[in-house]
Amino acid sequence: MQVLLAEEFGFCFGVERAVEMVEGALTEGATVRTLGPLIHNTQEIERLEAEGVRTINQPVEIERGVTAVIRAHGVTPDVQRELESRADKVIDATCPFVTKVQKLAERAAAEGRDVVVVGNPDHPEMIGVRGYAPNNSHVVRDASEVANLPALHAPLVVSQTTIKLSTFLEAAEAVRAKADAEPQIVNTICSATRDRQDAARALAGQVDAFYIIGGRHSSNSIKLLAVCEEQCEKSFLIETPDEINATDLRGVSRVGVTAGASTPNWLIEQVVTRLREIGAAE
Ligand code: SF4
Repeated sequence: MQVLLAEEFGFCFGVERAVEMVEGALTEGATVRTLGPLIHNTQEIERLEAEGVRTINQPVEIERGVTAVIRAHGVTPDVQRELESRADKVIDATCPFVTKVQKLAERAAAEGRDVVVVGNPDHPEMIGVRGYAPNNSHVVRDASEVANLPALHAPLVVSQTTIKLSTFLEAAEAVRAKADAEPQIVNTICSATRDRQDAARALAGQVDAFYIIGGRHSSNSIKLLAVCEEQCEKSFLIETPDEINATDLRGVSRVGVTAGASTPNWLIEQVVTRLREIGAAE
């Protein structure tokens, strides 16, 4: 049985960078606390916990002498300042793609312009971005919500990094009708999710079974499963190699593997090893 990996899989740039920054702090002997879970992967969180990393929910939970980590989603400037006042050291692991959105919002707000961000208002990334333009930013999920906005002054329109392009473009178009000047539209969508889906789609038609490694509640892993199922009936979303059922692989000659953007390489390697063992035993 051949095991084939999709061309793009696993950690995105921002998540890999955040995990590496935490590993670097641990190597230097720091006591590390992350504000919110560093990554949406239970197994990787457990591995980091075994190395002493703990998750806190509020800056007030910071103990004396610890290193606080801002995760890839970023935080508001107020939260960052609070962390800096309480922790020994703050590691800012905000993904540079998110930092770009924050800076754009901050600049537009400083110029007295309105900021429209297309995304989920409850998502931590959006809460962080709004903090950079607290008095003149609006978060809309899609074009239909633009109708509820007040008149907008020379607006900047940006996006949450993980939304669909069509949702962003439709909302940006709707903003024009509310604006007193041509809006500045900046597409700040990150390609990581789409790249993984495109690579899975390219492979799904060539294999008899497909394993998607990722959290059962991770939206990007669930979407990867749906993409694989379009062309490969035997597609399975698993969190660990223990969930592979050898009987599902009877008569399979080619099996595909991909993983969500929060799935660490060590877990992917374990799955590939298990699949090869099953293949060798057939
Ligand atoms: S999905 Fe994109 S924006 Fe989000 S952390 Fe990963 S690389 Fe950064």
